[in-house]
Amino acid sequence: MQDIIWDTAIIGSGPAGLTAGIYTTRGALSTIIIGGSSWGGQLMLTSEVDNFPGFPEGILGPDLMENMKKQALRFGAEFVQDNVTAVDFSKQPFTLTVHGSLITAHSVIIATGAETKWLNVKGEKELIGRGISSCAPCDAPFFKEKYVLVVGGGDSAMEEALVLTKYANKVTIIHRKGEFKASKAMQDKVFANKKIDVIWNTEITEVKGNSKLESVDLINKLTNQPSQLVVDGLFVAIGHNPSSELFKGHVDLDEKGYIVQKVGTKTNIEGVFVSGDIHDHQYRQAVTAAGYGCMAGMEVVNYIASLT
Ligand code: NDP
Repeated sequence: MQDIIWDTAIIGSGPAGLTAGIYTTRGALSTIIIGGSSWGGQLMLTSEVDNFPGFPEGILGPDLMENMKKQALRFGAEFVQDNVTAVDFSKQPFTLTVHGSLITAHSVIIATGAETKWLNVKGEKELIGRGISSCAPCDAPFFKEKYVLVVGGGDSAMEEALVLTKYANKVTIIHRKGEFKASKAMQDKVFANKKIDVIWNTEITEVKGNSKLESVDLINKLTNQPSQLVVDGLFVAIGHNPSSELFKGHVDLDEKGYIVQKVGTKTNIEGVFVSGDIHDHQYRQAVTAAGYGCMAGMEVVNYIASLT
């Protein structure tokens, strides 16, 4: 592995990275995917995925990722289930450090994704995918005629609440402040929707349930008054963290840490490309990440051809 200079090294193995791998291998590029020690990205944490085209009955997130991985490997991609710990994009070929070994490549596709910010309260981790979600467009249909909470006060929370009203009986937004930071247009839509109410100045302190979410404990931050709500669902919409720490100082990041995409999927470093949630803070869907992965793969094929 160390002696080869790969045509391309893909960092990340969510829908963006694996789709990029399908396109680079089919474009006859030698491809190594460094997929991370826990490979597969955010979909490995979800249950049913109902909005990925091609699966009319839905598919489990881990199964979808396993299929994508198999597809990338079928065309000859090498897969390493480990983390990249350092990168050097200052000269060609680029080098990536994985467990003390160096991987060299003429091009790199960064597809490390983003992570949902969770509340980090007691009980939450165990109930993710069992009543707790961070994606209403993915999971809202599971809450038909149910009572759900959304936590957060930004545009994501407003959007999640609005999507949920198409299915749920009632949606309550829990927000830690007395006003939202979301855009006025989104707030107006929320306030006009009769299915939505808001509990202000309140934080969730614990979530409870055996095999699925049953209730949440709350505290009013102004009065310190605790309370409890019996609920069917909780949607956490308090933001995302791009997984870009490794690239600080090596490639341009924006003020929130997302990698800046220049033309197409190019970054500011020639030969370094980016795809998926690591640059896309707007759509954040598996299918859009796969779409960006396809774009990056095709652009890398052209880039490598231009070197010869
Ligand atoms: P934001 O960072 O804008 O908002 C996060 C919200 O979550 C804030 O209200 C914040 O509270 C709250 N929050 C953060 N941490 C905690 C915590 N630990 N406990 C409780 N509440 C917490 O993130 P978004 O994901 O909403 O939006 C990200 C970007 O994407 C924004 O630029 C947004 O405009 C954009 N976006 C646009 C959409 C659209 O135009 N349709 C849809 C979705 C997102 P506080 O207010 O106290 O800081």
